[in-house]
Amino acid sequence: MSNDLRSLRGVGPAITEKLSKLDVHNQADLLFLMPIRYEDRTLVTPIGALSHDQQVLIQGRVLLTNIVYRGRRTLLSQLSDDTGMVTLRFFSFSNQQAKNLSRNTLVRCFGRVRKTTTSVEIIHPEYQIIDPDNIPPLASTLTPIYPSTKGLSQGKLRSMIKLALDSQLHSVEELLPKEIADLLHVMPLRESLEAIHSPPKTEQEEGFSPAKLRLVTEELIANQLALKRIKRTTQLNKAIALKNTKEKNNLTRQLPFTLTNSQERVVREIEEDLMVPRPMMRLLQGDVGSGKTVVAALAIAIAAGSSAQAAFMAPTELLAEQHYNNLKVWFDPLGIEVVLLKSKLPAKEKKQILGSIEDGTSSIIIGTHALFQGAVNYNNLALVVVDEQHRFGVDQRLSLMNKSISDSVPHQLIMTATPIPRTLAMTAYGDLDSSVINELPKGRGTIETVVVSEEKREGVILRVMDEIKKNRQIYWVCPLIEESEELNFEAVETTHKNLKSKLKSCSIGLVHGKLDSLKKTKAMLDFKKGKQDVLVATTVIEVGVDVANASIMVIENSERLGLSQLHQLRGRVGRGEHKSICILIYKKPLSSMAKMRLSAIRESNDGFYISEKDLELRGPGELLGTKQKGIIGLKIADIARDAHLLPRINKLCADFEENYPKQAEKLIHRWVGNQIEYRKV
Ligand code: ADP
Ligand code: MG
Repeated sequence: MSNDLRSLRGVGPAITEKLSKLDVHNQADLLFLMPIRYEDRTLVTPIGALSHDQQVLIQGRVLLTNIVYRGRRTLLSQLSDDTGMVTLRFFSFSNQQAKNLSRNTLVRCFGRVRKTTTSVEIIHPEYQIIDPDNIPPLASTLTPIYPSTKGLSQGKLRSMIKLALDSQLHSVEELLPKEIADLLHVMPLRESLEAIHSPPKTEQEEGFSPAKLRLVTEELIANQLALKRIKRTTQLNKAIALKNTKEKNNLTRQLPFTLTNSQERVVREIEEDLMVPRPMMRLLQGDVGSGKTVVAALAIAIAAGSSAQAAFMAPTELLAEQHYNNLKVWFDPLGIEVVLLKSKLPAKEKKQILGSIEDGTSSIIIGTHALFQGAVNYNNLALVVVDEQHRFGVDQRLSLMNKSISDSVPHQLIMTATPIPRTLAMTAYGDLDSSVINELPKGRGTIETVVVSEEKREGVILRVMDEIKKNRQIYWVCPLIEESEELNFEAVETTHKNLKSKLKSCSIGLVHGKLDSLKKTKAMLDFKKGKQDVLVATTVIEVGVDVANASIMVIENSERLGLSQLHQLRGRVGRGEHKSICILIYKKPLSSMAKMRLSAIRESNDGFYISEKDLELRGPGELLGTKQKGIIGLKIADIARDAHLLPRINKLCADFEENYPKQAEKLIHRWVGNQIEYRKV
């Protein structure tokens, strides 16, 4: 049967294009789109028995549907069964939708319950109108939730995957040689693919099914094979030897501070790598605030001083902008041209910048991942610095290597946002050499961390007021925690309004992902310049943002965040000489996991300790619910959760590539990336 996506029922060009964003290019790829988590829709919960924050399937008749205008246009539909009543709330909806939910219509819906003392609601539930004479059966297996993209519904994905399973499963190739599969005790591939897309209900309790183990194992093997290949390839590649340290020395002299011993050591390590005509592949780890940017700048100065180009990639535009501002201050006096390649630029300006990159007038190019897209042609790119990456996958590293000019490939310096436990660094970044900054610059104020329940928010506001009187500044972070973007947005705005009304004489900024990049930058710059006392923000400010005068970090819903994220956010304060405080606000009740996280973060300020703790805490309990995809952008394996499998895998697969070259090739292709053209070794 055809493997073409278009031969699936209901799939046309529009859907095909959306699927390609998920790296799905044919039906077989659909089978390898791995669920992020599962939902239990095998039971209908009586409406009277709903409890807060529970994800449930309910069924009932519409009592009343109406559109209200309270601040914004909202569709409310009240649903009841024999046991109780619940309100469905929609912020974006069509008139047709409103009509269809007419009185007495039977509706089945799934969503997360929000229960207060006065109301029970589900916001933006998935729902289905049901014919009472022909009630469809409930799911008999758990319902998978897939990574998706805008305009592609879960229902659509599920139905396509079902069809693809029917047509392709029999022809999916088993790539693990039998002897290896036996030694690793893993089940056959086809069975596991079938099970991963519709696991029996018991899965939820079991956590780690044999099917999952099989797929995780296969993916880890593929990744290890890819790492080895990168390492081997790298060593065979040529790079430009960067030997001129004049500009580096000039920059060092001109800095307003002296480097810490760690920074000096790391700069030396980098310098030695750069002098050699083989590409550097180095991972730079250092705790939040340890001063990685200046180290990167010194490496960049060596490249620029040697008449070559350096690209500096940041995870967000906000951060790219900040780096641009810093680097301009450092490099302008040296007469070295720095440009910022923003994603949205007027055509003329863009053309000019692209031109200056191509003809080599710009030596230092800063931007986001757009730096490595088609339109950008470098004149003589010799160094790539990748900043603050939570995830910088094997596939990205490979594709960077393909950005070669003539015969040589750029040196790479990869800086992590959070220190990685040693075992993980060895595996996730096994192909890289490693440098560590293990001290903070002198003269930093301490950061105290306190955990308070949301009932004490008023007290927090008083504390904030005191600090503002001392001319310090405050971050107030509302993380994105709701499933609906609309609600997230509301949460930030509500907090902003609330703080405005409480802190009347203060000026309060707002920055979130929905603002366009110009407004974001302006909000950040205003805050940095001290024009605002408080900055209410989503986690867009999570990494990198550097404002030395900020001394309080308030984090709402801190119980929902992971340890590294909390540590990153906390790292936004304590950057100047002032004593700082990080206030973690939580909502009761706290799960035991959340309790452990909050106490770990309160106890320690050491990123290396926190990352070890993070690894330890992320036990199997979080498996099915976890959103974070681990460090290296894996589809199903989670390097933190599954690292323990690696020693055995590496032992058994030491000679895999030599013994099974064809399978190795196909495994890398299947799991690590479809679009990558490997440099042939
Ligand atoms: P991170 O490692 O988190 O990226 P940054 O590079 O943003 O940290 O550095 C944090 C702040 O510390 C910046 O304002 C930077 O200029 C400053 N800094 C870096 N190195 C030193 C140093 N050796 N002494 C004093 N301040 C430093
Ligand atoms: Mg940084």
